[in-house]
Amino acid sequence: MESIAEVMKFKNIKDKDGNITAINPYLETYNRLKMAGKIKKSTSTMQYKCPECHDTGYITTISGGEYYQVPCKCLEKIRVESRLKKSGISPGEYAKYSFLTFRTDTTEHADMKRLAVNYLQTRNIGQGIGYFGASGTGKTHICIAICQAMTCDFGEEHYYFSYRSEIQRIKAVMYSNAELYSQAIQHWISVNNLYIDDLFKFAMKDGKIQQQDLQIMFDIINTRYINHKATLFSSEYALSYITNNIDEALGSRIFAMVDPYKMGCEDINGRFKKGA
Ligand SMILES: [Zn+2]
Repeated sequence: MESIAEVMKFKNIKDKDGNITAINPYLETYNRLKMAGKIKKSTSTMQYKCPECHDTGYITTISGGEYYQVPCKCLEKIRVESRLKKSGISPGEYAKYSFLTFRTDTTEHADMKRLAVNYLQTRNIGQGIGYFGASGTGKTHICIAICQAMTCDFGEEHYYFSYRSEIQRIKAVMYSNAELYSQAIQHWISVNNLYIDDLFKFAMKDGKIQQQDLQIMFDIINTRYINHKATLFSSEYALSYITNNIDEALGSRIFAMVDPYKMGCEDINGRFKKGA
């Protein structure tokens, strides 16, 4: 195969009367693709991260009058960036919540990280992980670090479900329109590696779970359980509390999804140690 630049060195050759005496068989294909906008003219002022493929991930070549796209060596990097971009976690949060920034100067934090690394290296398909316990123990931090590693080190996608904000969006359509409700939860049911952050935050009213919250989470979590979709959980409620005080069926599903990669977190001093 030749690159387009190579091919286009050879124009059709015409005689003095304008008759074509030698045909470049690729020219027609090239012009057709150019008309269709599939080949963009490069300008010297444009800056590309990858000069080989102009950041498209593919190099277009022409062979036998047909065009082919072959993956560029930068494609995997582009895929990682695109997966990170659509996950729902901002670049700022990725920078803040990584394994590098996760301090392991307490026993609990060291255990949290050990569990995370063990999970990443030994999990089977569909296996989840969960950190349960008090706010301020680094649960969100370690879970976002795991999410990043899933994508950057293992080439997998991941998605972020912020309980506080997403639950409100789903509730808004829940009883008004069954089809919209089904659409609203479809994404969360079907994606791989979903991280549900702060499960049941503000869901309790007078010591009881609000029925809408429970119904929505049951629909999402139970379907993920049945379909073996890996789910990461963080919650300020202990797993035993969810099972005994919120909903036994849901609690036992979550247990089955995360066991043996689950941990209770209590050491809220971890966050105050900095600079102390
Ligand atoms: Zn490239």
